[in-house]
Amino acid sequence: MHLAKRIISVAPSATLAISNLAKQMKARGEDVIDLSIGQPDFQTPTFIAEAAKAAIDSGAASFYTAATGIPALKAAIRAHVLAQTGVDYGPKQIAVTTGAKLALYSLFQVLLDPGEEVLIPLPGWVSYVEQVRLAGGVPRPVPSSGHFKVTVDDLEAQCTAATRALVINSPANPTGTIYTQQELTLIGNWALRHHILVIADDIYRDLLFNGASYTSMVSIDPEITKNTVLIAGVSKSYAMTGWRIGFAAGPEKVIGAMATLLGHATGNPTTAAQYAAIAAFDSDGRSVEQMRAAFEDRLNVIYPLLTKIPGFSLPEKPQGAFYLFPNVKRAAQLTHFTSVDDFVAALLRDTGVAIVPGRAFGMPDHARLSYAAAKPDLIEALHRIDAFVAANAN
Ligand code: PMP
Ligand code: GLU
Repeated sequence: MHLAKRIISVAPSATLAISNLAKQMKARGEDVIDLSIGQPDFQTPTFIAEAAKAAIDSGAASFYTAATGIPALKAAIRAHVLAQTGVDYGPKQIAVTTGAKLALYSLFQVLLDPGEEVLIPLPGWVSYVEQVRLAGGVPRPVPSSGHFKVTVDDLEAQCTAATRALVINSPANPTGTIYTQQELTLIGNWALRHHILVIADDIYRDLLFNGASYTSMVSIDPEITKNTVLIAGVSKSYAMTGWRIGFAAGPEKVIGAMATLLGHATGNPTTAAQYAAIAAFDSDGRSVEQMRAAFEDRLNVIYPLLTKIPGFSLPEKPQGAFYLFPNVKRAAQLTHFTSVDDFVAALLRDTGVAIVPGRAFGMPDHARLSYAAAKPDLIEALHRIDAFVAANAN
């Protein structure tokens, strides 16, 4: 069977692959603790689910909507983004999509001609690189000289005449790092000078810990706002990964092009889920705060446990999202594995703890643990990893 070159060169999502493997092991009755996938372990708050049920009962959910979302959802997103960033995006500047994943996917599709490049700071989320490839573009990973953060010099070193866009993900997957206002100002102005569009993936914007503060790239100044597309959604903030609602907000020209693409690709995001998202964005934030506080508590409990494991190194405590991204090369060496990938595979096989090799994020000496799991499970997982290292290090 012939398959297009476009898909043959693309690697399947490593995060989804490991979590599927963990699910299969669980289904066979194995004692698995899955710290691989990045999704809140909480149920979607009831008032949000009720809004979808009401849309189903009233019949509103039976029909197609506008390709980029119903006006009431765009109004809710507009008010929410205005309150969080100070930027007022009109309805033609907002496209609601089937998850932020599709917002990013369709954005790359409308931005890139063949061979055009996108700067992707390392480490970076698995799908950026492959989505750029699927759009015919060329991903340009940017190694960071700072602690998991790129500087203007790092970007300059990878920038070419073909560079069209730059992804800034803050708080970041897989590190939980947050760019400061000052860092964003430097990067935003650099991108403006080079006519490079900034893609600000702010999907973890509500998950800030231990007093960390967050500024969005779009809030820096109006010129930078015009040169930026904001990406966010409901998955992480409202425990709504399964509902698949995200959005892009930015220049009308770009959003209009995305609307054309989305009209052919999906028609519209699932109607009932759009009604649920209105309830989420309109809510007073109490449920977001409850979940944020739970993540913060877990981080504070497990960070010291993780850094005590021999061969695990993570000098700075993450400030946001729900991931830890230690360097574990030394642990792999201590336990006589030739690579971190082998170490991570053996860990799952022998202890049932599923984590993601850093290779998936462009840094093969690291591994990612998601702490979007119950606190007792997290503590047990870290004890199992510690015992595994101790048992194999001789
Ligand atoms: N960006 C980042 C950095 C992510 O980690 C995710 C999680 N899948 C997404 C975008 C997409 O989120 P979703 O499609 O669930 O809205
Ligand atoms: N973003 C989450 C993760 O990194 C969900 C899985 C995915 O879409 O990659 O694990």
